[in-house]
Amino acid sequence: LPKAFLMAKPVLEHIEKHNHQAYFVGGCVRDLLLNRPLGDIDIATSASPEYIQEIFPKVIPVGIEHGTVIVRYEKESYEVTTFRMDGNYSDKRHPDTVQFIDKIDKDLERRDFTINALAMNLRGDMIDLFGGKEDIQKEIIRTVGNGYERFTEDPLRIIRALRFSSQLGFTIHPETLDDIKLVRHEIKSLAMERITNEFTKLFAGTYITTGIQYVKNLEIGKFLPVFSDFPDIINLIPSTMKPLKSFGEVITLLHLLKPEVTINHWVTKWKCSNKTKFEASQLLEAYKHYTVNGLDNMLVYRLRPEFYAGFVRLVHILEDTSVSMQQMVMIENKLEIYQKSDLAINGHDLIELFPERKKGPWLNHVINQIEQEVVTGKLMNNKNVIKDWVKWNPPAID
Ligand code: ATP
Ligand code: MG
Repeated sequence: LPKAFLMAKPVLEHIEKHNHQAYFVGGCVRDLLLNRPLGDIDIATSASPEYIQEIFPKVIPVGIEHGTVIVRYEKESYEVTTFRMDGNYSDKRHPDTVQFIDKIDKDLERRDFTINALAMNLRGDMIDLFGGKEDIQKEIIRTVGNGYERFTEDPLRIIRALRFSSQLGFTIHPETLDDIKLVRHEIKSLAMERITNEFTKLFAGTYITTGIQYVKNLEIGKFLPVFSDFPDIINLIPSTMKPLKSFGEVITLLHLLKPEVTINHWVTKWKCSNKTKFEASQLLEAYKHYTVNGLDNMLVYRLRPEFYAGFVRLVHILEDTSVSMQQMVMIENKLEIYQKSDLAINGHDLIELFPERKKGPWLNHVINQIEQEVVTGKLMNNKNVIKDWVKWNPPAID
């Protein structure tokens, strides 16, 4: 067993010791069979959330009413969910009622796809009620039960089907495809954040071109903000498309492919976080700078290091030229300064140089010029050298 499973074993053992059933369940079992790096370990149990809280010292009650708690064990977090059946989904978000049960079969029945409806206990016994193992082998995504009903219950499962095709490279079963076509318009009723969350994973998938192909063929764009107003966007995605690691990268790419749609528009319509918005603005600025000047000191200076990799990915998709992470880091290491406050001169020094002047916009203006000269390597970051430079290049009066 992979390390993550071994680390989680004591949690299941502890539940069993208290005479309750415990299983690894969902994505982690699927990824184990696929020999794929796994996200997180989810555990299903017959014990009630309250009982789990009693028998483990560190439990975070994240969703008690749905039967989910997080057990902290040896610095790791495990989502432990009580076996349950779901009631109606009248708000298309959460089941109206959940009913805790003491056997796992009905719990597996509520899960979206056969490949996600597997459970395994400590002894390696696999519970596979819907042919999930076989579908993994055949690389097929297929709903558990009647697809039309399952997608109507929660239309997010449609987006999830596309997301799994992009992550795993699997084919969507023809019947499931037909059911998607019957329900796809219901995507409009979903909370945008849920869609954005799945799309972020879709665009990060190893088999992104497979995922995009499904989005195109199933005309999912018709039911999504922005894509529905600009139906050509999805076709503009180049065949050189590669996985993108964040939604900030995604909307930067989509904006570059369709400049009429601004980053702000994407952010608003897709309810993105401020973090995503900031990332996209950083990436866009860097990309534009790159197309004019190439990779230079100023680009690296302005771009936050956490976005270097995303910038490299965008260039890789959009340009014939390429940029490597090593190049970026090499330039970063040679920068004279990393921020304005690293300059060897400040506002006070400048006022001293021009005692006859009042404070005003000219000050910022000179500092920006000095910053530019220092970053581009034309001026040494040394107080006297900068002072000399300022004397020879006296700032314009406001
Ligand atoms: P990842 O590796 O990305 O975490 P995952 O399969 O674990 O993939 P999650 O979104 O973490 O996916 O969900 C965990 C499990 O819960 C799924 O494997 C599936 O069994 C079930 N599940 C999640 N969302 C739904 C849904 N909308 N409808 C039905 N079952 C769902
Ligand atoms: Mg998961």
